[in-house]
Amino acid sequence: MLGLMQDRPLALPHIFHRAEQLFGHKTVVTAEVNGETTTTIAELCTRVRRLATALDDLGISADGRVATFCWNTARHLELYLAAPCTGRVLHTLNIRLFPEQLVYIVGHAEDEVIFVDRSLLPLLWPLADKMPTVRAFVVIDDGADTAIPDDPRVRDYEELLAAAEPFSGDFVIEDENTAAAMCYTSGTTGNPKGVVYSHRSTVLHSVATLFADGPALSERDVLMPVVPMFHANAWGLPYGGLLAGSTLVMPGPNMAPQAIVSMLERHEVTITAGVPTIWMGVQPLLGDHDLTHLRAILCGGSAVPKALSEAYREAIGIPLLHAWGMTETSPIASVSSMRSHHEGLTEEERADARARQGYPLPLVELRIADPETGEPQPWDDEATGEVQAAGPWIAKDYYRGEGGGSQFTEDGWLRTGDVATVDRYGSFRLVDRTKDLVKSGGEWISSVELENEIMAHPKVAEAAVIGVPHEKWVERPLACVVVKPGETLTAEEVIEFLRPRVAKWWLPDAVEFIDEIPKTSVGKFSKKTLREKFGGYELPAAAER
Ligand code: AMP
Repeated sequence: MLGLMQDRPLALPHIFHRAEQLFGHKTVVTAEVNGETTTTIAELCTRVRRLATALDDLGISADGRVATFCWNTARHLELYLAAPCTGRVLHTLNIRLFPEQLVYIVGHAEDEVIFVDRSLLPLLWPLADKMPTVRAFVVIDDGADTAIPDDPRVRDYEELLAAAEPFSGDFVIEDENTAAAMCYTSGTTGNPKGVVYSHRSTVLHSVATLFADGPALSERDVLMPVVPMFHANAWGLPYGGLLAGSTLVMPGPNMAPQAIVSMLERHEVTITAGVPTIWMGVQPLLGDHDLTHLRAILCGGSAVPKALSEAYREAIGIPLLHAWGMTETSPIASVSSMRSHHEGLTEEERADARARQGYPLPLVELRIADPETGEPQPWDDEATGEVQAAGPWIAKDYYRGEGGGSQFTEDGWLRTGDVATVDRYGSFRLVDRTKDLVKSGGEWISSVELENEIMAHPKVAEAAVIGVPHEKWVERPLACVVVKPGETLTAEEVIEFLRPRVAKWWLPDAVEFIDEIPKTSVGKFSKKTLREKFGGYELPAAAER
């Protein structure tokens, strides 16, 4: 017997029409190169309707890839809606990729048009001739004084919109499983791989951003996604915010900590999101700003150091809300929300609970499996294994079937490459990336845990731990430490600080002081770059502690 409920496609037109109908009076603020602009959702929706026609006028095919090379702005949001609502596929390009990677990705996705912020044109235009699939480069004038090339492929966004009649009907996507957007993984090994989100997966993930034990977006929120709109669709928050009817604040091109904290204060932001390096930069400025409106700071993309989260709790009364996920998981898969069994715990114990990657969201299933045998591991917070994920917003393959088989299990779960334990309540704690674990004498040392302990030192700004070859133990940990400005620190002090906190055999064999931890294109610590930097590193002879 079949159920008798309506089979309406879960598709992005719903988010668009709902925003247009219910939230026209709400606003989107964008920081531009010079000053800020404010637009209402009603105005934005009219522009989306014009953009829909403009995409036709540009001759973009029915399911053509529409790429963006943009900051977080209202204009970018227009593209987030117009491309998928007209059946095209939004492809957000990471503005920090190396030129060869960009050329590869644009060619692989067969992008037909790239919308580019004027301030970013100098990064993209020199590559234009290597992008034969791209028939138009549409420049969005963000106030930068960058020269605009005199070339028939270059078009002006505002002129295109002005010349286009607004599309007047309802947007319709009949099959909810058609592609809505795509995003390439950072590709630490091999070529980047395309993750393709469907309308269904995007709508369901947007609904999940409204869950009370997740970001809990609501109409009353003022949402500022600092995480770039090219990093897994800003963690799905722009779509979630539109669905909920939140006011949106877009930080634009200025990612300096001072600019971020001023926007949070000025616009009375209630919820924001970004990777730990963003919040490390903002943290010293907290005391000078009134952030009493903030109710949540979503943080993930790499492990959130407990000390950082606690520094926020002490300064402004709210710790960081730790979430875990990956491009392949849309990306939010687990959130470390507080649970009833945390009642009555000490503040220290609660801080430990918050530092975990947390509980799978409803509809997401996570398990840990022995990476060699695939055997499921017990939920006792002792056994470690690879995190595997399944659910309606988890990838089942990569674009053009490039999963190579190895990233998915036989029963269809995504192999994340993250190693974790899980407690009996289902809270996951990431130990490391499989490839970042330090393999010392047949035992594993968690680089993440060592980093977190080192970053708890009051004089340490940042720390990353990598394994370096060792004759006897195969690999031993090397700690790369950045000292806070104006402070001094010795290797011995770092080791003495760690001694009571970690097992003796975990103590790094060496500490190197460096000016900055190299970052990936999405602001995570780049262990790959560090490993290259310390390629032939010679550990001190008397390393055994
Ligand atoms: P990406 O697809 O580039 O966002 O990278 C996803 C990877 O980032 C995951 O597989 C994890 O290794 C890492 N990651 C994301 N969130 C967290 C977190 N909260 N804690 C630790 N690692 C994380």
